[in-house]
Amino acid sequence: MSANWRLEAACRHEDPDLFFAAEGETAHARQAREASARAICAGCIVRSPCLDFRLTFEHQRDGDIWAGYDGEERYGLRRALLKRQQRKERAA
Ligand code: SF4
Repeated sequence: MSANWRLEAACRHEDPDLFFAAEGETAHARQAREASARAICAGCIVRSPCLDFRLTFEHQRDGDIWAGYDGEERYGLRRALLKRQQRKERAA
C-alpha cells in the first residue's frame, strides 16, 4: 500500500464529525455516531494502513474512531502488539 492510502479512504467524503467526539456528546449520540463511523470503516479498503498509522501516531482521544476502533480499543491493540514484540525478543 502506498503512502497515499488516504486517497482511497472510505471516509474521505464523509462528514468528519462522525469520527471525532464532540464536546458534551451524550452517551446515546456517541453510540450512534460511533456505529456510523465503524460501519464506514468496515467497508474501507485501506483499513489496515489506517490502523498502522494510528497505532504509530496515536494521540489518544477518547471517542475518536480510526480504522473502526475507538481509543480504548486501540490502546488494547498497542499493548497486545508490545507484548508480542517483547515475547519475540525474549525468545531470540
Ligand atoms: S478505516 Fe475508517 S478511519 Fe481509516 S481511512 Fe478507512 S474509513 Fe477512514
